[in-house]
Amino acid sequence: MNLILMGLPGAGKGTQADQIVAKFGMPHISTGDMFRAAIKNGTALGKQAKSFMDKGDLVPDEVTIGIVRERLSQDDCKAGFLLDGFPRTVSQAEALDAIMTKEKSQIDAVLYIDVNAEHLLARLTGRRVCANCGASYHVTYNPPKKEGVCDRCGGQLTQRPDDREETVHERLEVNIKQQKPLVTFYKGKNVLKKINGDQPIDRVFEEVSRVLGAIAQ
Ligand code: ADP
Ligand code: ADP
Ligand code: ZN
Repeated sequence: MNLILMGLPGAGKGTQADQIVAKFGMPHISTGDMFRAAIKNGTALGKQAKSFMDKGDLVPDEVTIGIVRERLSQDDCKAGFLLDGFPRTVSQAEALDAIMTKEKSQIDAVLYIDVNAEHLLARLTGRRVCANCGASYHVTYNPPKKEGVCDRCGGQLTQRPDDREETVHERLEVNIKQQKPLVTFYKGKNVLKKINGDQPIDRVFEEVSRVLGAIAQ
């Protein structure tokens, strides 16, 4: 299955992606994670992306499309993939379409995790991520067993620089603006599956599993 996870920052894409990958086994391709890894490793891509990310702005399309094209060309994506955080603009969606057409393939479903925008601020400012494995926690909604420590790998939990309240507003605004035309784009292709993201994490995953189960048949 070739899948896209869509939703505003804080909607629960990363959290659901972990569970989808554990159940269905396809590679998880998160452009945000790829940029953060590039910044951590001090690569040229990281240097390019950092100034945009720090402000809560989108990284330019050429850069983002380039890394996704390269990643999708790798062998482990041939049997399916889960894109998370890409596409975020209609140009990115069109570029992805062109890549899929060239591969004689298609996007099977776009899971749109819908969350009331008012809840996102609390989700983002309370988010803590593992510096080692990237797992996502929340100080209130999904706390680790031991404060500040990752359940999965024992790594240290940190706050992403762009999750501080100063940047979160800009980031949400940018994304709300970009999201509408994308939703229209995928609705037009009849692949958009709306998921109610305003429920506990396990309930959201039940809904996701139901939708994916129906597609996999
Ligand atoms: P969130 O998990 O909060 O939705 P991400 O981790 O997906 O955020 O993205 C973090 C940042 O990385 C974005 O604010 C943006 O600067 C950059 N980014 C990630 N994906 C894209 C994309 N498809 N296009 C442009 N910028 C992106
Ligand atoms: P995204 O990747 O879409 O930005 P995350 O998966 O990182 O979102 O989730 C954002 C924050 O909200 C995290 O702190 C996460 O633990 C929490 N979270 C995720 N899903 C839910 C949910 N259904 N209910 C409450 N909190 C959630
Ligand atoms: Zn970890």
